[in-house]
Amino acid sequence: PGVLNVTAVLTEERKGSQPQPANAANGAKLGAEGVDAIVAVASGKGGVGKSTTAVNLTMALARLGKNVGIMDADIYGPSIPRMMGVDGHPPSIGDNRLQPLESYGVKCMSMGFLVPEEEPMIWRGPMVMSAMEQMLNDVIWAPLDILVVDMPPGTGDAQLTLAQRTQLAGAVIVSTPQDIALLDARKGINMFRRVQIPILGIIENMSHFICPHCGERSDIFDHGGAKSIAEEFGIDFLGDIPLDIEIRETSDGGRPIVVSKSRSPHANAYMSIAKNLLVSLQKST
Ligand code: ADP
Repeated sequence: PGVLNVTAVLTEERKGSQPQPANAANGAKLGAEGVDAIVAVASGKGGVGKSTTAVNLTMALARLGKNVGIMDADIYGPSIPRMMGVDGHPPSIGDNRLQPLESYGVKCMSMGFLVPEEEPMIWRGPMVMSAMEQMLNDVIWAPLDILVVDMPPGTGDAQLTLAQRTQLAGAVIVSTPQDIALLDARKGINMFRRVQIPILGIIENMSHFICPHCGERSDIFDHGGAKSIAEEFGIDFLGDIPLDIEIRETSDGGRPIVVSKSRSPHANAYMSIAKNLLVSLQKST
């Protein structure tokens, strides 16, 4: 009595599907056929703007002429459908393949297309991995130059499994500048390092704020912390993005600023980060 709605997720633990050693060069890692590079966008904790950055970075890469897709591995809080302004059920092709949905010319796949938005997802590592496996292998991505993967925030069991078992070309870490966020960003960097995934760079989000009324600058979450971490760890600093209402409105409204206000200084900031990312990617391969 009182139960309005039930969602059942069935998973099965297959023999021999235990996580492989980190340096498994044995083909056990998950790739996606016809995708040249899988790039993870990660953060040490939630709410730092990881998904907003992943979406705008993807659009910036597309504007640079790359054939890109975005995969929402943030199964605990899939926000890609909303941020890319796309919804619906991806059509099935044949027996078990899914056609990704498309928005602004970019292929998108998210658990959010398959599960109602208000449904909580209580998944452990192996279940996340099985969802990830399906989203990589059973979705028609090819041909793509880059598949951007919006990772779940944090450095827990699910994140580590994803980092370890996916054929990642590298990871981009998003952080806000204040100490408490940087502490978590460090954990993120160390997690990827532990499983030998190259860190392609770090991005400082909400780096400063310019008051739209008086023009005065405030460093609400401090400033410059991500750059110092980049120096400390010897990784690339890809750039910074200010805290700005237009970024929030366009992002949450499904109109990423890189395409909806393509000449704005914010769009340019994402474009410059995307260019730096391509350089890092080339260096690491
Ligand atoms: P995460 O993926 O790290 O949890 P989100 O990308 O979902 O974070 O962002 C959290 C909220 O902050 C969203 O409402 C988003 O629109 C907003 N946001 C992200 N980056 C910025 C920014 N640079 N300026 C203003 N708002 C931002």
